[in-house]
Amino acid sequence: MTATPASSPPGNTERLTVRTRTSVLAQLRDRIAGDVYGPGDAGYLDARSGFNRLDVHRPAVIAVPANHFDVVEAVRFATEEDLRVAVQATGHGTGRPADGGLLINTSRLSSVSINPITRTARVGAGATWRTVVDAAAPYGLAPLMGSASGVGAVGSTLGGGFGWLGRRFGLASDHMRAADLVTPDGTPIRVTDTSHPHIFWALKGAGAGGFGVVTSMEIALVEVSTVYAGNLFYPVADAEEIIRRFRDWAPAQTDELTSAVAVLNFPPTDDVPAPLRGQSLAVVRGCWSGDLDAGRAIVDEWRAWRAPLVDTWDVLPFAAIDAVSMDPTEPMPVMVTTEWFDDLPDAAIDIVADRVRPAPASAPLIVCGEIRHSGGAIARGAEHAPNDRGRTGRFLLELVAAVPDPHVALAVESTLRVTRTELAPYVTGAAFLNFTAGTERVARAADAFSAAHRRRLDEIKSAVDPANRFCHGDI
Ligand SMILES: Cc1cc2nc3c(=O)[nH]c(=O)nc-3n(C[C@H](O)[C@H](O)[C@H](O)COP(=O)(O)OP(=O)(O)OC[C@H]3O[C@@H](n4cnc5c(N)ncnc54)[C@H](O)[C@@H]3O)c2cc1C
Repeated sequence: MTATPASSPPGNTERLTVRTRTSVLAQLRDRIAGDVYGPGDAGYLDARSGFNRLDVHRPAVIAVPANHFDVVEAVRFATEEDLRVAVQATGHGTGRPADGGLLINTSRLSSVSINPITRTARVGAGATWRTVVDAAAPYGLAPLMGSASGVGAVGSTLGGGFGWLGRRFGLASDHMRAADLVTPDGTPIRVTDTSHPHIFWALKGAGAGGFGVVTSMEIALVEVSTVYAGNLFYPVADAEEIIRRFRDWAPAQTDELTSAVAVLNFPPTDDVPAPLRGQSLAVVRGCWSGDLDAGRAIVDEWRAWRAPLVDTWDVLPFAAIDAVSMDPTEPMPVMVTTEWFDDLPDAAIDIVADRVRPAPASAPLIVCGEIRHSGGAIARGAEHAPNDRGRTGRFLLELVAAVPDPHVALAVESTLRVTRTELAPYVTGAAFLNFTAGTERVARAADAFSAAHRRRLDEIKSAVDPANRFCHGDI
């Protein structure tokens, strides 16, 4: 049996729209300690907004739970009122918008506690990686966080989680040890590999938004406190040559190095460091978590080959790892897409460089084209993880395009589509969920799983959510 298609979700929006004006919101307010908002309430716009301003939820009701029990009540309320349910922590990776349904905003569930004996963290649904990395650092421990600490730890883990320790330790989703889940019928369960092995497997990389609300998660931490990390910035005119050299160099490195090559178009804004402001540059970046002198030596190979314009590689506390990607922290409208490569032929490199590097006198549409070197523990973990498709690929491309004005949205979308079409002969066709957002996430989610894993996920979804109430997630 397969789940109800996400395109035909349950719910009677019109009935609720009328009733929300009367007693329904008041009922939910009586049932939970947290906040409840309907359209027009002060606080509604803030509670539905997330990092990506392109993907806007228009829910009939927003619940901002103050605790785990509020989540249980909110989900039961949705069942009674026949509402679809969506979850938002930070809004960095919104999929199908929660139009007309109940949006559960988990931002207040932000507690984090560390157990240094078991080397695990218990992470609330709304906690960002910043809270986790800061809590773990005093014990010499680190989470498998991605490039930006403002991203939600739970949402990012449910969708994969490819960070700067990835080749050595794997994806964040490989390190989930347990989850407290409120199922779509409002039942709280603790999910482990022994209590609910199928759901446990599904949550580890295919779990964002589709199987209920994870109110907290236990994740394994790794013993990393100091790394050698940074960027070498080169002229963008040399992008093809630098990407080719990176393609040949990176696979020769050990798993202690997770690295990437990128073409970046920095905005001319004050939050960008002066030498990079308004510049288009080719970048070799990464994080070495082994012996620090050995890390310096491998980056010296690049310095000896060609002196960079700017060199920021240095010894860093892992808690300062945001310095590598310098991702934006203020909310912005962006489109994101991705491709996995088994190999990276010259023709594919030329397309990426050409599409990301802005033509003279034109504003860049794609602000970041980053090719991460994968393999190592990321590839080794593929077989047993739900998000198996593509993970054995050697390189992962992420394209990020800013949409400063809604009028250019179609042009941006078309540029990304054309770029993917040009790259089609060279890619595996697999998607990495976390490197998609909005309509792209909805369209590409199935491409993150092999056919066999997709079938297993559909069976689990049918059993856990037969009414497809959580139709906004990736499954
Ligand atoms: C600037 C930036 C940098 C990034 N860097 C990386 C990176 O290096 N590596 C990487 O892997 N990804 C990266 N990402 C992608 C990010 O990991 C995903 O967008 C992720 O989905 C964000 O999770 P969130 O909870 O913060 O966002 P949200 O948009 O709030 O949630 C994302 C998805 O997870 C679901 N979800 C969230 N919380 C729960 C919950 N408690 N229970 C059930 N479902 C839930 C939501 O329903 C939604 O479907 C980056 C994104 C941005 C914008």
